[in-house]
Amino acid sequence: MSLHAAPALDQARLVVVKIGSALIVDPLAAEPRTGWLASVAADIADFRKRGIGVVVVSSGAIALARRQLGLTQKRLRLEEKQAAASVGQIRLASAWSAALSSYGLTAAQLLLTLGDTEDRRRYLNARATLHTLLELGCVPVINENDSVATGEIRFGDNDRLAGRVAEMIEADQLILLSDIDGLYTDDPKRNPDARHIPLVTTLTADIEAMGGAPPPGYSSGGMRTKLVAARIATQAGCAMAIALGGVAHPLTSLRDGARCTWFLPQPGGRSARKRWIAGSLAPLGRITLDAGAVRAIARGSSLLPAGITHIEGQFERGDPVELIAPDGAILARGLCAYSSADAAIIAGHRTDDIETLLGWRGRDEIIHRDDLVLLDQAASQGGANPGLTKR
Ligand code: GLU
Repeated sequence: MSLHAAPALDQARLVVVKIGSALIVDPLAAEPRTGWLASVAADIADFRKRGIGVVVVSSGAIALARRQLGLTQKRLRLEEKQAAASVGQIRLASAWSAALSSYGLTAAQLLLTLGDTEDRRRYLNARATLHTLLELGCVPVINENDSVATGEIRFGDNDRLAGRVAEMIEADQLILLSDIDGLYTDDPKRNPDARHIPLVTTLTADIEAMGGAPPPGYSSGGMRTKLVAARIATQAGCAMAIALGGVAHPLTSLRDGARCTWFLPQPGGRSARKRWIAGSLAPLGRITLDAGAVRAIARGSSLLPAGITHIEGQFERGDPVELIAPDGAILARGLCAYSSADAAIIAGHRTDDIETLLGWRGRDEIIHRDDLVLLDQAASQGGANPGLTKR
């Protein structure tokens, strides 16, 4: 394989697939396109058999309710869109549930707002829920929580939402199923000389300029938001494809080599989040470890409550803390899965005792290894890169 070969779908471990309203909803009948959805569900079942986890980001809620509610004018007010989304989301979720269940798969619905991927606490919760659903063999189907999100807390388009989801769960690949088979040098509908670009290794200003202006009317997507998604995903170490969705079995076609545009992950993308944990957050507490826990985290393990001797500071779940060696040296930083009050109660105890001590069963790890950075490791990864905004 050459250095810049397109990624193979088979090699992925976790894939996010984004599907737009135009694919899900038959515009004449204003009904879900059940035959096409069944072919996508069959593809997802095939991926799962190969050990690939799949998360779907699906639009279509608003489009599915417009006619039913008599909201057929081209432009809807925000409140009308929100009302339509609450009616249509039920239909959308049941269409997914029906399609996936005929292949023995369980659909799980998650409705997210921008804040859920930016606020550290909600970010940890959403990420943990998604990973748990995947471990349980479910297919999470995500949409924006349009009904409650106001202007400033909206993603506004599901391309961007899909990028954030891919970043959040550290997906290997994000596939945007579209009405076009990739990125072109110009709009191929208007310019017959527009050339298809099969592989984008770096998102340069020239590439970004190919996004053009946002499309008019209700549609929120277009190439521009796809390139925004590409930036988010590739900077997080995730490859992204723009592929034709309108065919039956679009994911199988892509696996079999259908034409598309791949955007390669940026080098060091995966470590951006760790750099963010290590560098750009002010720690709100200090957790002192015993010698055994120091050895465990040095080996790359998570921090368990048993290895903690002392907690200082006031912090909430998801807040950044410093990990301290018995001799006082600062060893690492991490995002704590418990508040300082709860951490103090379970410190020094076995994981099995967490439930008895707190009255509820939280995470086994007090800091998961994905949320923990050893400071000598951080130094070798370079400066801070805020992958997420501060709360
Ligand atoms: N979340 C909206 C819906 O389900 C669509 C947003 C988008 O397609 O980008 O109808």
